[in-house]
Amino acid sequence: MEIRKLRLSGFKSFVEPADLRIEPGLTGVVGPNGCGKSNLLEAIRWVMAENSPKSLRSGGMEDVIFAGTANRPPRDFAEVVLHAVDDEGEPLDVTRRIERGAGSAYRVNGRDVRAKDVSLIFADAATGAHSPALVSQGKIAQVIAAKPAERRMMLEEAAGIAGLHVRRRDAESKLRQTEANLARLEDLMAGLD
Ligand code: ATP
Repeated sequence: MEIRKLRLSGFKSFVEPADLRIEPGLTGVVGPNGCGKSNLLEAIRWVMAENSPKSLRSGGMEDVIFAGTANRPPRDFAEVVLHAVDDEGEPLDVTRRIERGAGSAYRVNGRDVRAKDVSLIFADAATGAHSPALVSQGKIAQVIAAKPAERRMMLEEAAGIAGLHVRRRDAESKLRQTEANLARLEDLMAGLD
């Protein structure tokens, strides 16, 4: 899956509708402190049905709605639309919208769906080659400072392969080691005869 475009309206500091094009390859978000870099990553997680307060830096669900400033009144809703292309090259548009007092609603290609359906789409995509791996600001410093083994773990986590694939590779390497040990043992036993 490849994410092509994002549209944010009323999401955290993105009070006015904002369109962001995401070009192929690695995308970095830069800007001064407090300009909304982390909010942008959170918007991507949020539209993928993320609800954990920790990864959204929020207390309640409605905290993602623009809360107002000294000069601007708060908004009643927040909406994020993610335009992507799936592995078959078909367009995939996912919308999440939250209204004060009404909770979240999701749409995939214009059809109403459940949060679970959206989670499943991205859970599957996380295992693909173009996995939507999101690396937050703090993580970059962590990746640079990490020891090689820790770095590997972080990258595998980001690639969504920390589970099954890693266990399989470890098992294969143990198997190769055991085969080498067996061959050596046979040589030694042949020497004893
Ligand atoms: P830094 O580089 O300091 O980490 P950043 O570019 O990642 O900053 P964010 O943390 O994404 O910036 O944005 C913080 C800004 O978003 C703050 O000014 C905060 O007031 C604003 N903000 C967060 N939630 C809301 C909200 N619900 N309504 C209005 N503004 C919000």
